[in-house]
Amino acid sequence: MAEIDLEAVTKVYEDGTEAVSDLNLKLEDGSVLVLVGPSGCGKSTALKMIAGLEEITSGTIRIGDRVVNDVEPGERDVAMVFQNYALYPHMSVHDNMAFALKLRKVDRDERDRRVREVASSLSIAELLKKKPRHLSGGQRQRVAMGRAIIRRPQAFLMDEPLSNLDAKLRLQTRSQIARLQRELGVTMLYVTHDQTEALTLGDQVAVMSRGVVRQIDPPERLYGRPEDLFVASFIGSPPMNLVGARVSREGGSLQLSFAGFTVPIDPELAAGQPALARYVDRELVLGVRPEDLGEANGDARRTRIPAVVELRESLGSEIYVHFDVEAPPVVTSQTREVAADLSDEAVEELERQAASRTTTFVARLDARSAAREGDRIELAIDPRGLHFFDPDSGRRIES
Ligand code: ADP
Repeated sequence: MAEIDLEAVTKVYEDGTEAVSDLNLKLEDGSVLVLVGPSGCGKSTALKMIAGLEEITSGTIRIGDRVVNDVEPGERDVAMVFQNYALYPHMSVHDNMAFALKLRKVDRDERDRRVREVASSLSIAELLKKKPRHLSGGQRQRVAMGRAIIRRPQAFLMDEPLSNLDAKLRLQTRSQIARLQRELGVTMLYVTHDQTEALTLGDQVAVMSRGVVRQIDPPERLYGRPEDLFVASFIGSPPMNLVGARVSREGGSLQLSFAGFTVPIDPELAAGQPALARYVDRELVLGVRPEDLGEANGDARRTRIPAVVELRESLGSEIYVHFDVEAPPVVTSQTREVAADLSDEAVEELERQAASRTTTFVARLDARSAAREGDRIELAIDPRGLHFFDPDSGRRIES
C-alpha cells in the first residue's frame, strides 16, 4: 500500500468548467480519506485524476514516491470500484475475480488460491460459479470489491460504491468495507454524496464545494467544529439550526440575543472564545445542533428558550421536535448551496421562511419525552454546543 499526495491539482474541462481548483490532499498509507460534497462539486473528477482517467490541468499527483501525472491508468496500480459494478456479464464470479491475475500471467493454482481466499473474506465463496446476472445488487458489489482486492493494488478508489443498494444493504456493505479496509490495511479514497457514509468510513473527511475543499478533518472534528457555514449546514442530519444573533455586553458578561430571546453566554465559553468580544453589538450567526437542545426539565442552566411543538417525529430511539423561532433563516450563498443540493423544495422552503421571517428549529429529544404536537415546552441549550459564524464570510468565529 502507498500514500497518495495531491499538490495544487486543478482540472479545467475543455468547455472551460473548472471542476477542481488547487486541490491539496494527503492520504496516509493505510488510511481512508472520504471526499464528500454536493453533486457537481468535483469529487468524481478528483478521483478520476488519481486513477488517470482524466488528465490534470496543473499540479502534481504522487502515488507512493512516484509522480504519476503522465503515467497511464493501467500502470498506476490503483483499483477503482464504481457504483455500476462493471462486471463482465459472460464470466462467472470466479473468472471475473481472476481476470486481472490472468492478464498478469499469474499461474492457475495461485489464481484459484487467491480467488478462494478473497471470496471467503467477502462471504461470496458459494457464488463463485454464478454469473453476475444471477446475483443480487449487494452480491455484485462484493464481487466488484473482490475483483479489486485480489490485485493487491497500492490503493483503492471508490466512487459512490453503495449508491445503487437499498438502505439496509447499504448499511451492511458499509460495515463490510470498513472491516475489510482495517483487516487489509489498505489505502482508500472514497467518494460519496452521503455524509453518514463519510463520517462512518473516513479517518479524514474532506468536504468539497464548487471544486474546492472547504475543510478536511477527522469526522469528530468536522462535526464538532465546522469551519464555515457550508460545512456546518452540510454535515449533520437533521442539520445544525442556524439563526442570526447579536452579542451584547451586560455588566461584565456577554449575552446573546436571537429571535426575541436573550440568553447569557456561559462565562467559561466566552473566556474560551475571546474572538466573540469583537462581535459585541454586531450581527453574527448562531448555530446549535439538534442534540444540544434538550428539554429543560427544571434544569438550572440559564440558557433556556420556550417552544411550541409544531411537529413530532418519532424514530423509536429518539424524537425530533420541530418548532418555529421568530427570526429569518440564515440565507447566504453557502446555506443556499446546501439547500439546492437537497432539493428545489428545500430552496423554496428557505425562501418562504425568509419571507415570513420564521425559522424552523429541530431539537433531538429522548424517546421518553412527553412532548406532543401543540405542547408548549421549554428547551435548554447546552452552552458547549453553541457555534458562531461570521455572517459575511461564513467563517467560524474562533479565538
Ligand atoms: P461530483 O462527482 O462531485 O458530482 P464531478 O466531478 O462529476 O462532480 O463534476 C464537477 C463539475 O465538472 C461539474 O460542474 C460537472 O458538470 C463538470 N464536469 C464533469 N465532467 C465533465 C466533462 N467531461 N466536461 C465538462 N464538464 C464536466
